[in-house]
Amino acid sequence: MLNARVTGTTALVDLAAIAHNTRLLAAHTRAQVLVVVKADGFGHGLVPVARAALANGATWLGVTSLAEAHAVREAGLTAPVLSWLHHPEDDFAPAIRAGIEVAAPSRDHLAGIAAAATRAGGPAAVHLKIDTGMARNGATPDDWPELVTFAAKLEEAGLIRVRGVWSHLAHADLPGPVNVASQLSRFTDAVAVARAAGLDPDLRHLANSAATFAHPDTHFDLVRAGIAVYGVEPVEGVSYGLVPAMTLRSEVIMVRRVPAGTGVSYRHDYVTDRPTTLALVPLGFADGVPRAAGPRASVLLGGVRRPIAGRITMDQFVVDAGDLPVRPGDEVVVFGPGTAGEPTVSDWAIWAGTNEHEILTGIGGRVPRRYRGTPAAASRVPRARRPPRQHGAGAPAVDPGGQR
Ligand SMILES: *Cc1c(COP(=O)(O)O)cnc(C)c1O
Repeated sequence: MLNARVTGTTALVDLAAIAHNTRLLAAHTRAQVLVVVKADGFGHGLVPVARAALANGATWLGVTSLAEAHAVREAGLTAPVLSWLHHPEDDFAPAIRAGIEVAAPSRDHLAGIAAAATRAGGPAAVHLKIDTGMARNGATPDDWPELVTFAAKLEEAGLIRVRGVWSHLAHADLPGPVNVASQLSRFTDAVAVARAAGLDPDLRHLANSAATFAHPDTHFDLVRAGIAVYGVEPVEGVSYGLVPAMTLRSEVIMVRRVPAGTGVSYRHDYVTDRPTTLALVPLGFADGVPRAAGPRASVLLGGVRRPIAGRITMDQFVVDAGDLPVRPGDEVVVFGPGTAGEPTVSDWAIWAGTNEHEILTGIGGRVPRRYRGTPAAASRVPRARRPPRQHGAGAPAVDPGGQR
């Protein structure tokens, strides 16, 4: 809860929204919910998001690097965490000791993980990744039989434990079973091949945010939800009642009255058509306000939507305030939940010709994150202890399926 009025430029993160969105996701599935906190929690702050989500129905955390996974552990969070984007020669040994589970998309990755398990003195918990049609990451169906055979050997040698088999969907944001059908059937085939090789993965996972809402047949044992946790509706044309968690706000720092015909910002793309008031806002593309959005973008200024005048520059942009009585210190809401007339992150994504993910993760390091709305449940999370420095890596602090 904030004690003081928020001043200056701030990305205000509503943890009650994170809590609500996590509960909504959990209510749409019988599977466990893994909350994806990669890229610093999609720009919202990895640790606060993780705590709020774990207190509201999530049981797993997902990240794309060992560094992020260690940050989870360093914050004292003992929940299971899966890290899934590595070089085969990354240093997996400390991760194994910290009970971090790792994805393996190739034989080289498995070899690197197995070598690290030898150094770590215990088996690595591994999630084998099959590429079912995204062509981005994971073993191809052709390479899969060899991968699972190798994994079975390493499991027998006590170097790994195959906890999961997983894949990622390419079209889940489009409703209708046809958009996941071929990937779903390749996935169930891959699981069967893994089982035939003697593996017994208890976590099969395929669904992202969109599939959690739109494709229940993809849920299996675990869903991996990212963007929906942050309050962005993931399925094209459908609203499930998610609440955007981030409000990006700033303040007017300078005001000037100008005559008609005044060119504003670089190259004077914008020329005033009447006498007007220009308000200067100390946020720019270095802070993640997309330059490309300039010609279409507007912000909430003094409770009124006003257009951005001219090009968004690196550190600042100008708002055409018209005849509004604006003064330095007046609040500017760049985006928020949209409930007070401010734009949403989805509006900015459209204006900039990109997706909400890029806007949220692009909000720069100069913008301080502040938190409010700590959900009641979150305060019941036991004060986390540091995980033991070393424990049998095959048995990280996981209670598979125990929560639902
Ligand atoms: C980012 C990511 C997710 C989360 O996807 P959303 O569409 O944001 O829910 C899930 N799985 C993988 C492998 C990812 O990289």
